[in-house]
Amino acid sequence: MEINKLIRKNIAKMKPYSSARDEFKANGKTMLFLDANESPFENGVNRYPDPQQKAVKRVVSQLKNISENQILLGNGSDEVLDLLFRAFCEPNQDNIITLPPTYGMYSVLANLNAVDNREVFLSEEFTPITDSILEAIDNKTKIIFLCSPNNPTGNSFPEESVVKILENFKGIVVLDEAYIDFSDKESWLNKINDYPNLVIVQTFSKAYGMAGIRMGILYASKMIIAILNKIKPPYNLNILSQEKVLSILSLSESIKSKTGCLISEKDMLFKQLLQIKFVQKTYPSDANFILVKVDNANLRYQQLLEKGVVIRNRTNEPLCENCLRITIGTSQENIKLIDALKSLQ
Ligand SMILES: *Cc1c(COP(=O)(O)O)cnc(C)c1O
Repeated sequence: MEINKLIRKNIAKMKPYSSARDEFKANGKTMLFLDANESPFENGVNRYPDPQQKAVKRVVSQLKNISENQILLGNGSDEVLDLLFRAFCEPNQDNIITLPPTYGMYSVLANLNAVDNREVFLSEEFTPITDSILEAIDNKTKIIFLCSPNNPTGNSFPEESVVKILENFKGIVVLDEAYIDFSDKESWLNKINDYPNLVIVQTFSKAYGMAGIRMGILYASKMIIAILNKIKPPYNLNILSQEKVLSILSLSESIKSKTGCLISEKDMLFKQLLQIKFVQKTYPSDANFILVKVDNANLRYQQLLEKGVVIRNRTNEPLCENCLRITIGTSQENIKLIDALKSLQ
């Protein structure tokens, strides 16, 4: 597959911004930094951050067993997803394919970048209908977005569906694994080098507990990473976020035990939700939330709000009529949720 043919022409031709910190090479000596018009007075943040976030990438590389030049970090997944549109999709010309019901950001970014979003709905079981997806492709289709485990449905996509799409589509296949740490299915990261068109997106916002620092991770071939690096804002991750992610990751054992705790809380919630009289169905979940079908989603959502419990009403999403999405909380929060649900008339 030729990635070069997929890149927008202006992006292929453009020269990247060369920041002050890109241009110098330290040679072991202590340097005087008089290159970037920073303030010389130390306060912890007076210097620009590392544009390549090398310290963070080193840790991610060890954690995920992938080479540093196959990692791109962004200001949330939102930023790395937006960079994919900018690199590969010609406005008012190219198209992408998404599989609703899914994460709303793909469609927002398509609109923002003036790229047509071809929606191919999932099946009733929320699995990709691969024949319909392959039929929707034309020579202007640049990216297919797969979210697995999928938001808001919670299920993972069958391996053979993903393989079929990867093998039959010549553009970029983005696999959004925001919830992979809650799943017992293997990440596709181990197969990243088998498919030159595979891009995997993960995040520190969910299992890693760092939604507030805004850090998204994209993994791909060196070639795709080089293209995205060329167009990313030079200093896209601030110093505070880079330092905080390093200090929290050094406690990675506690991240594992918290994830395990949320998974057992989820198993318990499944059982208790089915005992609520207006709950008609729960959907299987490999994520940290449960999609629930109720008698009247708008009513139950409002009633819970009045009890001080905020969940997500997904009733207006395709195939999600009367569905609510509930995030797994702490044990005490989940007890309060169930008590609130039981008290509703
Ligand atoms: C939460 C979520 C993300 C993470 O977004 P960030 O910008 O990294 O916080 C990405 N994809 C999906 C499907 C999500 O649900």
